[in-house]
Amino acid sequence: MSLPALAAAKRNIAPALTEIRACLECGDAIHGRADKKFCSDLCRVAFNNRLNCDETNYVRNVNHALRKNRRILIELNTSGKTKISREKLLRKGFDFGYFTSSYQTKDGAIYYYCYEQGYLPIEKEYYLLVVKQEF
Ligand SMILES: [Zn+2]
Repeated sequence: MSLPALAAAKRNIAPALTEIRACLECGDAIHGRADKKFCSDLCRVAFNNRLNCDETNYVRNVNHALRKNRRILIELNTSGKTKISREKLLRKGFDFGYFTSSYQTKDGAIYYYCYEQGYLPIEKEYYLLVVKQEF
């Protein structure tokens, strides 16, 4: 076999070596460009819609938890500075996992805020509710 003929034969084998990729949405084999991730536009759109939906739901749930916390603090803090038990907050549905900011004083006390409404752990199972004044 001449050298050009050998080169041509090798070129014919090459396509068989490309790996088969699976569609991220349906798992079907993908044909075409090496960077393609989906078998079709339909699968690409379905995949991205689902992703966006999960993200939107997550943000919505966090926002809801923060607003609920704020509402509970407003409801319980009628005087602007109120001592309240952890149990009472929990019974209202308060979620200590969500706050918008925290502030540590020089002596190490940490205030947690849900927007302008704050709480400071003061003693075992008790909190001081406060309101931020700086806006
Ligand atoms: Zn697909």
